[in-house]
Amino acid sequence: MNIYMDCTFGKYEIEAVLKIFFPSEKFCFLPSDKDVTGSYILINITNSIIIKVNVDNKTVERHENLRATKKENELAACRLLYEILSEITGTKSDWGILTGIRPVKKINQYLSDGLNFKQIQDKLSDEYLVSEDKFRLAYSTAETQSKYIPIKENNTFSLYIGIPFCPSRCSYCSFVSHSIATKAAWKLTDEYVEKLLQELTLTAKITKDLGLKLTTIYIGGGTPTALNPAQISSIMENIAKLFNISDVFEYTVEAGRADTISEEKLRIIKTYGASRISINPQTLNDDVLKKIGRNHTAHDFYDAYEKAVKIGFDNINTDLIAGLPSDNIGSFIETIDGIIDLNPKSITIHTLTLKRAAKLSNFKELYKQSEVIHSMSEYSFRKITENGYAPYYLYRQKNNIGNGENVGYAKSGYESLYNIYIMEEIQTIIACGAGGSTKIYEPENNKLTRIFNYKYPYEYVRGFDEVLKRKQKIYDFFRK
Ligand code: SF4
Repeated sequence: MNIYMDCTFGKYEIEAVLKIFFPSEKFCFLPSDKDVTGSYILINITNSIIIKVNVDNKTVERHENLRATKKENELAACRLLYEILSEITGTKSDWGILTGIRPVKKINQYLSDGLNFKQIQDKLSDEYLVSEDKFRLAYSTAETQSKYIPIKENNTFSLYIGIPFCPSRCSYCSFVSHSIATKAAWKLTDEYVEKLLQELTLTAKITKDLGLKLTTIYIGGGTPTALNPAQISSIMENIAKLFNISDVFEYTVEAGRADTISEEKLRIIKTYGASRISINPQTLNDDVLKKIGRNHTAHDFYDAYEKAVKIGFDNINTDLIAGLPSDNIGSFIETIDGIIDLNPKSITIHTLTLKRAAKLSNFKELYKQSEVIHSMSEYSFRKITENGYAPYYLYRQKNNIGNGENVGYAKSGYESLYNIYIMEEIQTIIACGAGGSTKIYEPENNKLTRIFNYKYPYEYVRGFDEVLKRKQKIYDFFRK
């Protein structure tokens, strides 16, 4: 679709609004003096705000007066465009034109500017067209977080360790994950673990030299429990030796898929100090599990969960996904109710995201599931909060179907600090392993500097010298 515009503000904001209505469309931005052809959108902000849309054989043109500032003109143009497209396509987004991935950050900013509940609600509703439901979700998330931010000491960090391997690849997967279903692929894991231990050793030295205090650890993936017991043991034993984990507030291992969890692995994870684990069924519907290529059943999940409880894990999270193919609202409700009966300390509800890499990206009709996603999100918020959980972190991703969101709910005192830190970008996170990126936080000017590791495990192993070289940049940064 051609977008003709001459205004000085970026195409990014306009494109983000367009994506709400045409998620799989490509946009071509052209100067407005070119001849318009086909489906097009014309945006002119000179003497007034003019938007003309010609889509689906319908043409709508609207004008508005210019506002006082450039920022206000940008917002007004995005609102006008949203309203016209909403009218033409019949589609609405509960998040309105608030298209960034961290809605809570915006609320936290307004709170620190001294705005009250009503003022924030009016701003989000009038300026960004956010629905009342989404405002309440984001505001209660900010309220829960207020216990934990700002962080009192600024010489702290969290440690992320990436294990980008899975026993097979789920059809909806959009993460960096390498299937180790074949012997050849499995071979890579030993070399990977060996390099990872070297990176952890260097990281421990750097953080010790700089006097940084470790507060949370997160071993994620992929599926960390896809590794064998000896590999898990070696990684966790080294973490315990290299870092001072006695002061760590929270130590999470994302066990993930039930088909990788055994009593032996759980005991190792517990022995080396993990305080929180995640066991993720995504759904309790066996037909849906089969359809999305997870090689386990709901029974396997219950079995893994029971083992974890028996071994003494008290802080268990479960991840679920709204909008999975062939799932429906009835089955989603059964899943939510089934998980609440288990009484885990936290429940995370993701909305399915379609990315190019995932096999499911052909299911374009899934984009049309806005109504279903809306009902799933509404039910989960109501049911989960009625049962003593509160939302504590929230983020959105590009291509979340139905313009949904991902929400972490927890019982009071069991909110994952790591998740809050990473989402709200308020602490330095040092990442080891493939797929991770170190984010160095400067509280003085609220700025993040990123140091990327290689994305895929084979790149990480091959380019390992470069990985160690990039880690040294942490010194440069803190000693500036
Ligand atoms: S378990 Fe998670 S990371 Fe692994 S393939 Fe499935 S969705 Fe991807």
